[in-house]
Parts: sequence; C-alpha cells; structure tokens
Amino acid sequence: MSTTFTLEPVGTRFGGWTVRDHTVSNQHGMRQAVVECDCGRFAVVIMANLREGKSTKCHPCSIKTSRTRLQAEDRAPNATLRFDQVVSIKARIAAGETLVSIAGDYRISDRTVSNIKCGRNWRHVPWPESYAR
Ligand SMILES: [Zn+2]
Repeated sequence: MSTTFTLEPVGTRFGGWTVRDHTVSNQHGMRQAVVECDCGRFAVVIMANLREGKSTKCHPCSIKTSRTRLQAEDRAPNATLRFDQVVSIKARIAAGETLVSIAGDYRISDRTVSNIKCGRNWRHVPWPESYAR
C-alpha cells in the first residue's frame, strides 16, 4: 500500500515537541504523531498542526503548570504500561480499533483497554485532540 504522506522522521523537532512515533490516522483521515514535549509529557498531535506550528508544546506547558505536579500525576501506581504506550493505545481507540485487537498487541486484557477507554485508568493521559467522546 502506498501513501502520499511524507512523515517526518522520529526525532524531528517542532517547537517544544520531538516526534517519537507515528500513529494511525484519526477518524477524519488525518495523520497523527506521538510527540514528546521538552517536559517529558507525551501527546498525540495531528501532523498538520505540527507542520503549521499550531501545536508547539503540551497543554500543561502552555498554561505553565508546575513541572513537579505534572511528574506526580504521570506516575501511575502498579502500572504495567508506560505513559507513551497509553498515549498510543488512546490514539488507536480514537481511530476505532477494537479493544481486543489493541489488547493483543500490548499483551494486556481487553478489560484494561476498556478501563482506559472509559477513563477508569490513565485519565491523565491525553486523548488525541481530535477525538470527540
Ligand atoms: Zn510540556
């Protein structure tokens, strides 16, 4: 399958963001990237917004929330998933992938994915900005 998208390589910087991974298209067919802010927080941002400079850092950084507080929120007790993995999982849920398919890829139960989807776990991990719940 060919694509007309030109994806910036992992490591490309857009303002305070560094591209860490590419994700599936969202429900509008727009390509998204997993990016890491200079503060260490991950997010899923539409590539077009990165290229046009509409998104240059994470929301907490843009509203100048204290860094200490962010790090406390990001530490999930008994976590079997990394923060950036949950960012990717949320992007895949938003893209309409089945819970079972996502769970299989991460070797977790579909109940775990369901808990993420319902916001019972990992509430602090951002959803793709285009995802309307
Ligand atoms: Zn940040």
